[in-house]
Amino acid sequence: MCLRLDRQAIRDVLLKNLERSNRPVENCKNPWNGECRSADIEVYIYYKGRLRPICRDCWSDIVEKDIEW
Ligand SMILES: [Zn+2]
Repeated sequence: MCLRLDRQAIRDVLLKNLERSNRPVENCKNPWNGECRSADIEVYIYYKGRLRPICRDCWSDIVEKDIEW
C-alpha cells in the first residue's frame, strides 16, 4: 500500500509538469506493453532514464499490478 501511495504522489507531480510544459500529442510508450499505441496519455514516467508517456489504460494497469521501475 505504501508503494501505491508513492505512485499517486509521482503521478500528481508528473501531471503538474505535463501541464506546464504543454507537450505535443504522443502515443503510449508503456515499457510493459510494447503494443499499446493509445494517444490518451495520462501520465509520464521516468523509466531507465527516459521519459515515457503512459496512457490511461496502461496507467491503471501499472497501479493495480504494483510493477516496480
Ligand atoms: Zn498504453
